[in-house]
Amino acid sequence: DPQRRLLLRLADYTSEQKLLIARDVSKLMQLEQVRRDFVANVSHELRTPLTVIHGYLDMLDGEDNPELAGLLDEMRSQSARMNRIVEDLLTLSRLESMDRVPSERVPMQPLLQALRRDAEALSSGRHRISLDEHCPCDLLGSSKELQSAFSNLVSNAVRYTPAGGEVRIRFAREADGGARLSVSDSGPGIAPQHLPRITERFYRVSNSRSRDTGGTGLGLAIVKHALNLHHARLEIESELGRGSTFSCVFAPEQVAAQEQDAA
Ligand code: ADP
Repeated sequence: DPQRRLLLRLADYTSEQKLLIARDVSKLMQLEQVRRDFVANVSHELRTPLTVIHGYLDMLDGEDNPELAGLLDEMRSQSARMNRIVEDLLTLSRLESMDRVPSERVPMQPLLQALRRDAEALSSGRHRISLDEHCPCDLLGSSKELQSAFSNLVSNAVRYTPAGGEVRIRFAREADGGARLSVSDSGPGIAPQHLPRITERFYRVSNSRSRDTGGTGLGLAIVKHALNLHHARLEIESELGRGSTFSCVFAPEQVAAQEQDAA
């Protein structure tokens, strides 16, 4: 346990040394705050100009000029991509600025149905999509943040899995009384050496493939932050050439009590 090891090591320091370490850490925390504010401000400032550009691009058409029509299409798709990046950066900033989420009951039935519909819409018939529910229970937390985390996983599964593949959403109870939502796909899988860094911002296994699929490079960072706020963890199992399973594992405390179901 790295935290315990750090504590043991700290015990070896004199109190002066500890004070210096504390100063260093608080300096780092300040810098981290500056970085967060900066990213949040930049993203916010980019929003309006992007909306204007997007709006004007939609008004132009290249009807009599096929070359221009092609260029306009490319500009529209790039400005849409920039919009998605800015929105994801704002989501990430919002998550980073929170130290806890409300503990409201999150009704899972409608959420799971919505996830399935999202997957179907994204796939437009190119994949087999299934939803298994083995848990009539609900979760406790923020509906909005959980929904955004889950739909990032579903969107990745559909985007990275070639046509003809399979995407499976599963919600089940854990042996310890917790719950697990997993999204499995029969896509390309991820090599083990990438797994430790995969939830970092803008970390990509293959740049070109990820850009082609319309990703922002921020999806899994959003998932990880949202889950952290719920004291839940992200488990990734993946095998090259066979597919991946991303699971959100919730502790028993995050599962809404059954008695409330009847009420
Ligand atoms: P992106 O917007 O690039 O998809 P993410 O943070 O969601 O960003 O994912 C990070 C990287 O992890 C992706 O670029 C991709 O290489 C890899 N990845 C994520 N989900 C999957 C998946 N279901 N199958 C294969 N690779 C995946």
